[in-house]
Amino acid sequence: MPELPEAETIVRGIRSAVSGRRIEDVEVLHRDVLVVAPTRLRKGLAGRRIAGAERRAKNILLEMDDGSVVWINLGMTGSVLALPRPPRTSPARARYGPVATHPAVVFLLGDGTDLVFDDSRRFGTIRHLDAPTSEARSRTFGPEPLTDEFTPAGLWDGLRVSRAPVRSWLLDQRKLAGVGNIYANEALFMARIHPARRACTVRRHEADALHHTLRSVLSDAVRAEGTTIRDYRNAQGGEGKYGRELKVYGQEGSPCIRCSSIVQRVVFGDRSAFLCPTCQPRRAVARRTQNIGLT
Ligand SMILES: [Zn+2]
Repeated sequence: MPELPEAETIVRGIRSAVSGRRIEDVEVLHRDVLVVAPTRLRKGLAGRRIAGAERRAKNILLEMDDGSVVWINLGMTGSVLALPRPPRTSPARARYGPVATHPAVVFLLGDGTDLVFDDSRRFGTIRHLDAPTSEARSRTFGPEPLTDEFTPAGLWDGLRVSRAPVRSWLLDQRKLAGVGNIYANEALFMARIHPARRACTVRRHEADALHHTLRSVLSDAVRAEGTTIRDYRNAQGGEGKYGRELKVYGQEGSPCIRCSSIVQRVVFGDRSAFLCPTCQPRRAVARRTQNIGLT
């Protein structure tokens, strides 16, 4: 599932291809991804110029010249690709070749580029919001972890008042933007924190370590252009290279790189978590809970 590094990689990959380009038309092949009526989307965008492309949390934002913003959420299997426009002679599934076999919505740009939202399972969404609505939506997300608004003190302040498992806290987009299950598990391993520990049992020095590991894991993954487990592709159809750097996610049964214990997979909150039982002891919960006086 695409997270911050995958969305960031796509934005970097399409920015120069879309900035300053005019949208000639919008082709809707699967309207179920639209959170806007197809006719309204076409009317609102045809003839408009794209001012730029940005990322907020796991979303790709196309900023239009009238201040409105197209929000593209990649869902489970979505990708956004900038591709040379092929002839419309073959069926939509075949027209872009193997890099985009499930095109759902295509933005036809004035220079002959197709900006393709491809999504095989179609849990992704496209919205077209006016400027105030877009700003209000942006404010519903927590701080961006790779910016200065994300601080060790701010992270600890959020964790210490929550009884949720720390992994669930990290996945809550209202608390922190852009982190999903892959990078939450990796950062918790690096910080030696069991993913199922209650957030309020995380001590200050552990929160400091987690702040550091979240940033380093996410920035390393951006540099590697994300992680391709199955579906994710960058804006040109290539795979992310961070998969070979994963230390616990999807590594159950393999030895821990630090201590050689066997990496385990446990399921809670309907999601798999991956951990080293030696480096990330669960037993810390009871002792630390008592220490800070919670019942
Ligand atoms: Zn270990």
